[in-house]
Amino acid sequence: MSKETQITGSTNLAKLEQEVARLQEKLRISETNFGFLYDDNPVMHATINPLTGYVVNCNSMLVSNLGYKSKKAIISSHVSKIFTERSSLKIIGLLDAFLKLGAISSEEVTLLTKKGKKIQAILNSRAIYNEAGVVVKSIFTLVDISEIKKAQRSARRKKEDLERVNRDLEQFVSICSHDLQEPLATIRFSSDFLMQKFTDELSSKGKEYIGYIHEASGRMAEQIKGLLEHSRIGRDLKITKVDVQEQVEVAKYDLKKRIQETQATIISENLPKVKGYKVELRLLFQNLLGNALKYSKKDLAPIIKIAAKEEQDSWVFSIADNGIGIKDEDIADLFTIFSRVPNQENKEGTGVGLAHAEKIVKLHEGTIWVKSQFGVGSTFYFKIKK
Ligand code: ADP
Repeated sequence: MSKETQITGSTNLAKLEQEVARLQEKLRISETNFGFLYDDNPVMHATINPLTGYVVNCNSMLVSNLGYKSKKAIISSHVSKIFTERSSLKIIGLLDAFLKLGAISSEEVTLLTKKGKKIQAILNSRAIYNEAGVVVKSIFTLVDISEIKKAQRSARRKKEDLERVNRDLEQFVSICSHDLQEPLATIRFSSDFLMQKFTDELSSKGKEYIGYIHEASGRMAEQIKGLLEHSRIGRDLKITKVDVQEQVEVAKYDLKKRIQETQATIISENLPKVKGYKVELRLLFQNLLGNALKYSKKDLAPIIKIAAKEEQDSWVFSIADNGIGIKDEDIADLFTIFSRVPNQENKEGTGVGLAHAEKIVKLHEGTIWVKSQFGVGSTFYFKIKK
């Protein structure tokens, strides 16, 4: 070997050694950084041997959350020490799949503290491979979701309570209104009987008062009927794809007599299909159309326009009329059951129609509102999801 070749060889060796030193330093820094990330992370970490299910390493967050003094208490233990029995079995099953897939994602598990308290967590894991490409370690990342779960449970409980109270209330209204019908029928029967059988013996004042009883009990019977119908809305519901145009046609058919009498024109164009409750939607249009016909002007044939405007994830329906309109101050209570605009004694009604309408819209998780100009006309809107 020449002297020149010897010099070149040693220069290359020095270069190689430098490169190795540089890479080692890089590795040290990366390990320091990784260790820092692993250890000081606000989430819990555990490194598991996927072949045995034993803990190889863990971070301080896991140690403190589980109530242990040091990592030593966890390292070299089987996963069953830090997870509930059920979750340990789940994890053993997941580790089998993990060896093939190299990842576990978003699995719900329950950790067990030293004192036996449970911590619900979301488990994600990634694999560490050796040079031969074989999975040797599994790094678990565990995010505590106990608070979220607690909030979810509390929300679920509140919803169930609310549903139960609602059911009880509906049942109460239903039973009450059903039971009230009977004594009311007796009052009506007795006042009619008095009027017919004792008409000669009654003074005009007496007849007038019996007339009041008859009229008031008739109104009350209608109100009880309305209340009963109101409590029944929403029972046995089945959501289907509803052709709104079709339901409007059925509602128009049911209102045929009134449409003819008032010589009304009803215009509806391209009404969509929506996900909803068919019978209830028909009742909704029947109520709103019925009102548009009922609250029309005396000498003006009603013109009613039904339209639907598409929004990103909902439909806004509108029913516009050229009727008597509503004063601003009367709008606030309009949807409350039995509320009627004053001085409309000549228009028959019980004040339940719009309460029905609101309940139906709410069943569809929607909203209902009205815009009106007194003496010009009203437009009722309701918005429901597509
Ligand atoms: P009812 O028609 O039996 O009184 P509703 O609950 O259907 O009961 O309506 C409540 C009140 O709202 C009515 O008494 C009426 O004064 C007013 N109203 C409803 N629809 C219209 C309308 N299209 N135009 C004017 N007023 C209306």
